[in-house]
Formats: sequence, C-alpha cells, structure tokens
Amino acid sequence: MNDTTVALIVAAGQGSRMGGPPKQFLPLGGKPVVAHSHAALAAHPAIDAVLVVIGAGQDTDLKTALGPVRTVTGGATRRESVLNGLEMLADDPPARVLIHDAARPFVPARVIDALLTALDSRDGAVPALAVADTLARNENGLGDAVSRAGLVRIQTPQAFRFEAVLAAHRAWPVDEEATDDAQMVRRHGGSVALVEGDPMLDKLTYPADLAAAEARLARGRTRSATGYDVHRLVAGEELWLGGVRIPHEKGLSGHSDADVALHAVTDALLGTIAAGDIGTHFPPSDPQWRGADSAQFLTHAAGLIAARGGIIDFIDLTLICEAPKIGPHREAMRTRIAALLALDPDQVSIKATTSERLGFTGRGEGIAAQAIATVRLP
Ligand code: MG
Repeated sequence: MNDTTVALIVAAGQGSRMGGPPKQFLPLGGKPVVAHSHAALAAHPAIDAVLVVIGAGQDTDLKTALGPVRTVTGGATRRESVLNGLEMLADDPPARVLIHDAARPFVPARVIDALLTALDSRDGAVPALAVADTLARNENGLGDAVSRAGLVRIQTPQAFRFEAVLAAHRAWPVDEEATDDAQMVRRHGGSVALVEGDPMLDKLTYPADLAAAEARLARGRTRSATGYDVHRLVAGEELWLGGVRIPHEKGLSGHSDADVALHAVTDALLGTIAAGDIGTHFPPSDPQWRGADSAQFLTHAAGLIAARGGIIDFIDLTLICEAPKIGPHREAMRTRIAALLALDPDQVSIKATTSERLGFTGRGEGIAAQAIATVRLP
C-alpha cells in the first residue's frame, strides 16, 4: 500500500430521466457534466489520481469529454461498478479512496478537505446535510408526518480507508443491492464520520436540476484577471511558447521550461480566484519544477477554478517579441491551450506585437507575455 489518495468517479449510468444521452454526458456550462467533477477532483492537491468507471461502449464519449483519462468498465449495478474500480486499484492499493457520482458536478474543495481529515480517525467519511423540509408519507394523499429529527441527507464524494471499503465490497452478498458504499462499510464493522455537506453537491436527477445548475453557472459572478511574465532568450535552449515547441536559434531560460505564454495565462487564471501567483504554487526554489512542462501549471490553475465550481469563459494572450514570428504558430498554440483547459479554440485568442526594437524585447533579449482570463464562478 502506498500513501496516496485516488478518486473514483462512477459514470457508468446508461439511462437518463432527462432524456437523451446519459446525464453524466449532457452539456453543462459548455462541457459534459462529468468534466466538472473530474476537473475539481483532479485539481485537488491531496488527490493523486482519478479513475473513471464507465459503462460498456462509453469509452468514446468519455474521451471526447475529458481527453485521455484512466478508465475501467463498470458492471450491471452501481455496486458492481464501484467494485470493478476498487479491484483495479487493488493492484497497487492507495491508502484512501474517494467515491463520487458523476452526476454531482460541483465538488467544493472544502468538503474534500473535511472528508480526508476525518479519515485520520475513521474508516470512512460522508458529506451530510440536515433535512430542512417537512417529511410526510404519501398515502395517495397526505399521510402522517415523519419526524426529521436525527435525519440527514447523504451526498458524495464518500471517502474511505481503501482497505476498509475494498473488504466491505468483497464481503457483500452478490444478490443484494446496497444503498451506498458508506452503508456497506458500516455493515462490515467500519465507522463512518459525517462532515458538513454542501447544497452544491446535490445530484442532477431531473431536467429541472440540470437547468438549475446551468442557471447557477449563468448567474455566477464574472471575474477577469491579468497575468504578465518575462523570460530571457538565450542560445542553447529549446523555445517553448504557448505549449508548443518552436524552432528558433534561441530559447527561453528559466527554472521550468520557461514558457512565458503559459505562465502569463496561469497567473491570469489564478488571479480570477485570488489564489496567489504561479510562484505561490510552484516555488522556483523547489527542484522538482526544474525543466518542468508548464502545461501542468496551467492545468493546476484550471483545476483550482473547477474546484470552486467555476468555468473559464475566455483567454486573451499577447506575446511581445521581435522574433520568432508568432503568426505561423498561432493556431497550434490556440489549439494546445484550449486542449489543456478543455475549451473550444474559439475561447482562446492569441495576439502578437513587437516593441519597435525598443527595450529588452526589442533587442531580442527576452520575450514578454500578458494575458487576461475571464471566468464565471457560481
Ligand atoms: Mg515565468
């Protein structure tokens, strides 16, 4: 067992009460429902990997939605699907696993933090919310009220010590269905903590739920923020710009791959959620970022936005240099940045200018980049 945490997203449902494709693949805020929780979980600093359980024949749908991701095929029921995921992980077992329903697109980082903290002393932890409405029986007309004292609504992600949930699943009778993974762990003798849930975690079940989620995104606050970066041009370095390798007699020098364009966009994205700057998250003093692919800085920032339930509306980037010429590489950069951020290339603008041979950019000593990002937060 290694001391890692893996998130398992159960996205194997085939039907939809909403009509059309399975609800985890319906569009929400311009991308499939499952892409929202995947981005939030993948971006959380305490989560090392994400595995998606899909239904037979959904491989193409998922790759279209998320790009290359690790998947396992589910079973006939949710319980079997989860078990298939756990058995795949059991080859190299993590210490902790979060099991999440794909139909709950918004996953606040605060809830993940609370779940993982609770695992320090318990076998499992689930997000729960108090029941606010009056409860009553439907007896073909209003029946007796049911006391809501002591009742809670249980959400996902549910977090477990991996060995505890795997053992509970393996011991479960094959002909019996389970309400959820937490009840299986309880029946197997495990203890499960309750942490404060969040209305944002509610499941999309009916068409009105999807419309409400769409409205939540649409009425969200719009935030724009800028980013700016400079790197030195030197002989003997590769030139990486906008995530694309560009043939040039000089390259950019810096601690990472020095992709000044991706750094400016990353800072702009971080700015939209007031999350510091690139150096806050990837300190240049840390040797692990030496020569690093700056794409990971960008996807980290995008994940932090996703973890807040935000979506990226638009990126506008300006490169300032005398050479190389940007025009021939513009489309490749747009495509690359859009792919990294799970955006349409129409949502990424790239412009270039010289500085009339003035200053350090004019003398070819370095390249500057400035960017503005616009996001919507719920
Ligand atoms: Mg930089």
